[in-house]
Amino acid sequence: MISPLKSAGEAVVDLAAVAANVRTVAAATGTAVMAVVKADGFGHGAVAVARAAVAAGATWLGATSAREALELRAAGLTAPVLSWLHPPDEDFARLIAAHVDLGVSTVAHLHAVAAAARTLGRPAHVQLKVDIGLSRNGAGPDDWPELVAWAHKYETEETVRVRGVWSHPAGEPATDREIATYEDAVRVARAAGLDPPLLHLANSVTALAVPRARFGLCRIGIALYGVGPGLRPVMTLRSRVVNVKRVPAGTGVSYGPDHVTDRPVTLALLPLGYADGVPRAVRGRAEVWLGGRRCPIVGRIAMDQCVVDAGDLPVRLGDPVVLFGAGPGEPTVDEWARWAGTNPHEILTGVGTRIPRLHQYGEVRHQ
Ligand SMILES: *Cc1c(COP(=O)(O)O)cnc(C)c1O
Repeated sequence: MISPLKSAGEAVVDLAAVAANVRTVAAATGTAVMAVVKADGFGHGAVAVARAAVAAGATWLGATSAREALELRAAGLTAPVLSWLHPPDEDFARLIAAHVDLGVSTVAHLHAVAAAARTLGRPAHVQLKVDIGLSRNGAGPDDWPELVAWAHKYETEETVRVRGVWSHPAGEPATDREIATYEDAVRVARAAGLDPPLLHLANSVTALAVPRARFGLCRIGIALYGVGPGLRPVMTLRSRVVNVKRVPAGTGVSYGPDHVTDRPVTLALLPLGYADGVPRAVRGRAEVWLGGRRCPIVGRIAMDQCVVDAGDLPVRLGDPVVLFGAGPGEPTVDEWARWAGTNPHEILTGVGTRIPRLHQYGEVRHQ
């Protein structure tokens, strides 16, 4: 038998933490939870996360593209799914046939959805999106009355059923003004004859911080993955030392060299680089967990590797290293985001495709 190949590192995904986070958010908000599993579940594996979230009580799944939504259906997930970003010539019939709710922001999209529904002979489930400040997707205030008027016409013909009116805030969290703009849009929709059963506006930060923005459903992304107070981190990114060198003071490390040792130290090489999700921008700030201590990454981060200054620690080949995790002392995703000058979302979704995801249920132990 051929033994399995070793990888440079692995992302261990604790599905028990996903379940715990769903319950924590549901209890804190008192509303239904949509588990947002776009971008392959923020890099954690969309199907595995979706299954764990639904089992823990999430009643909706959120996906950006049609491909992401259909991946969930192909895996046998039957929970309601909302997919919200489509080119105007999307194959809407496939989505309608798969019972996927469609976020709709423009009249052009609505016409295309209605045409697909008519061909299928089955009403499309749509959720109309209003823009309250992001200036991205969603109908702006000038276009909203026309969108809801067309939606009402299609609803009367039974080609479309409007299941929701929703938005996404620019504020972190949503501002009173954004919430008021959203409520105005709901009033306009009702005045046009719509009666959307589902209203939703909040992502994680808004859901947890602004009770009046919760409405009937909160769309939870980053909190699901355990970033935020009282939540359990889900992903541990770990690797092993692949080379060890004792070097004198004055030794250059990595390209440049931008870093020169100021004393004799032990250097530990990690087989992870920026292609694996270790951003170049963390240079000079990032630390890893090695030998029961935090040790700094030194020198420029390369595509495939980076160097850790282990000081006088007795490091051996193969020693385990945690880049971020949930254990005491281990760096967090939030810290990595600060070191890189970005948000935790980018750190998690940046973990590269050559890092295998290992799904397990419960605490992550290292050797
Ligand atoms: C990504 C996304 C979310 C989740 O946002 P978090 O800040 O990660 O909770 C919610 N709603 C929409 C429309 C999104 O695109």
